[in-house]
Amino acid sequence: MNDLLKDLVRLQAIELKEIKEKNRDSIIQELRSRIPPPILGHYDRLMVRGKKGIIAVRNQVCTGCHMKLPLAVVMTLMKQEDIQLCDTCGRYLYLPEEPAAPPAEPPPAKPAVKRGRKKKAAPSA
Ligand SMILES: [Zn+2]
Repeated sequence: MNDLLKDLVRLQAIELKEIKEKNRDSIIQELRSRIPPPILGHYDRLMVRGKKGIIAVRNQVCTGCHMKLPLAVVMTLMKQEDIQLCDTCGRYLYLPEEPAAPPAEPPPAKPAVKRGRKKKAAPSA
């Protein structure tokens, strides 16, 4: 991911307390000093309105407004050429780096077979 986007995502996560950092204030300060002021300004305007300033793209859809994004926007993000804004909601966009994909389906749960540990007081008749 573009370093700038990484910084924005991290900043947002810390500011929204999605991730906890010990030196929260100094990390925020450091991140903010790295992000160009116009970008930070736009991000802050969104955050002030209670919106996330940067939002993930999934399946070519902005997860902020659920509008499909032009392929060119997604391609630019993939190539890490530039930062992109969602045309509809005006948020910065990023492609989440998928962590080691969790298995799509959980393995089928085995039926809990109870072994006859319990002694059945079978009436012998
Ligand atoms: Zn959007």
